[in-house]
Amino acid sequence: MNSVAEIIENARGEGRLVLTELESKQLLANLGIQTTRIELATSKEQALALAQEIGYPCVLKVSSADISHKSDAGGVKVGLASAEEVAAAWDAIMVSCLAKFPDAVIEGMTVQNMAPPGLEVIIGMATDPQFGPVLMFGLGGVWVEVLKDVSFKIVPLTKSDAAKAVREIRAARLLDGFRGSDPVDTAALKDILLRVSDFVMKTPAVAEMDLNPIFAYPDGAIAVDARVILGA
Ligand code: ADP
Ligand code: MG
Repeated sequence: MNSVAEIIENARGEGRLVLTELESKQLLANLGIQTTRIELATSKEQALALAQEIGYPCVLKVSSADISHKSDAGGVKVGLASAEEVAAAWDAIMVSCLAKFPDAVIEGMTVQNMAPPGLEVIIGMATDPQFGPVLMFGLGGVWVEVLKDVSFKIVPLTKSDAAKAVREIRAARLLDGFRGSDPVDTAALKDILLRVSDFVMKTPAVAEMDLNPIFAYPDGAIAVDARVILGA
């Protein structure tokens, strides 16, 4: 596995500030944060071989430094159940992404295991001109987009800050389980917040992080998408 320093140096060497999803998840793995399995395929044949190895159902996503919102470009296909579906998804993603971004350089597509459904949450880090690095926690989907139901804490977070970040959102009761579902593992979410906080303290080169979504389960939590942005 590449170290955090290697991942950052490599991106800088290529004149990039935005790490790919693959690089971002490799970085998270270095921090002890669980992610989906992710492998880069640079051809359809390789994608098929990786899908076989990872197992079905799997997920295919465009990998391009020019496309950061992958699903907006038609660059994400989930629940692929067979080699035929992976091959068809490869073609569909290519057509759709090039229609939206004709000049995009597409390095390939990542093949990932399909994370089981969980409660979608997001953890983000941004650099505030006044407060410096700040962590954000919220529920995913409409909760963040429409209701802006998020909490903020200034880095470094204490254990008590992490607990408050999780509790302070208006929809916190959803974490306790609703309509008969089990409560999610908030300890795992607090652990991610603290690991990100520690990392950010040690790594001023990182300006922004977006773990969106994280799937939270009764036992554990997995980063399903990740983006890390370096400072200029
Ligand atoms: P975007 O760049 O558009 O944010 P994402 O990687 O977040 O793309 O994928 C879009 C959505 O697809 C996610 O919010 C999630 O619901 C679903 N998804 C993506 N990857 C996986 C995966 N490995 N397993 C299960 N669901 C996934
Ligand atoms: Mg995402």
